[in-house]
Amino acid sequence: MTDEADRIVLANVNKSYVTPPVYVVRNFSLSIRRGEFFCLIGPSGCGKSTVLKLIAGIEAPTSGSVRRPPRIGMVFQSYALLPWLTVEANVAFAARMAGFANEKVKSLTRSYLKMVHLEHFADRYPRELSGGQRQRVGLARALSVEPDVLLMDEPFSALDPLMVEELHADVLRIWNVTKKTIVLVSHHFEEAVLLADRIGVMRDGRLEEVIDIDLPRPRSENQENFGREMRRLKACASGTAAGSRKTLRKSAG
Ligand code: ADP
Ligand code: MG
Repeated sequence: MTDEADRIVLANVNKSYVTPPVYVVRNFSLSIRRGEFFCLIGPSGCGKSTVLKLIAGIEAPTSGSVRRPPRIGMVFQSYALLPWLTVEANVAFAARMAGFANEKVKSLTRSYLKMVHLEHFADRYPRELSGGQRQRVGLARALSVEPDVLLMDEPFSALDPLMVEELHADVLRIWNVTKKTIVLVSHHFEEAVLLADRIGVMRDGRLEEVIDIDLPRPRSENQENFGREMRRLKACASGTAAGSRKTLRKSAG
């Protein structure tokens, strides 16, 4: 598959859930390249989840177009695991639904549970796991469909800070190993600067700015220029003068 075909491309997308239309995503255009770590940030209700659903194909645009690679994996804030299935069965279920044959389902399940360090928890039920472990099952399940793109909707919001740090490390490691395109929805500036190549700042359904984060990896809050990038993002998100369009490089992707 060429790089072009692997891109996520939203062109002039508008989305309303009701008639007459009330647009919750407005004139939204964005192109995300293969292998990119893209973060979508903005206040609650600004349309982030809707954009993710449009990318996933769970929702259709009211107008405009969305192009996506064929296989999408999704990670949810609420984990969305099936409580009556074991860890292994949860992951296997997704792989089977994606159309893989039994042997392949087994090998995918094994390899992705290993990737999230849960190979010894295969026979447990979701209720027997910590929040962090549950979300790692969510990650393994999303990966088990062998997606081109991993979409994550505030996947760490329900976890305590130490757990979040571990999961950040897990996600970055998985991104490095698998080279997947990742689109992460977040409302944490720090998380966005730690993880993303580019950050899209949303407000009232619009994509206000796309900013490049030019920090070498591995990143940390203590690294040189981390504070500068945080201030740049915050200024942009709050629409203050320091974040005006002049000072932000609008990146073409
Ligand atoms: P965010 O993820 O940024 O918090 P959402 O995309 O979930 O925002 O929601 C954006 C707006 O769309 C909100 O006003 C929300 O109430 C509305 N909305 C979301 N989903 C639906 C739906 N299924 N039906 C009607 N309105 C919806
Ligand atoms: Mg949301």
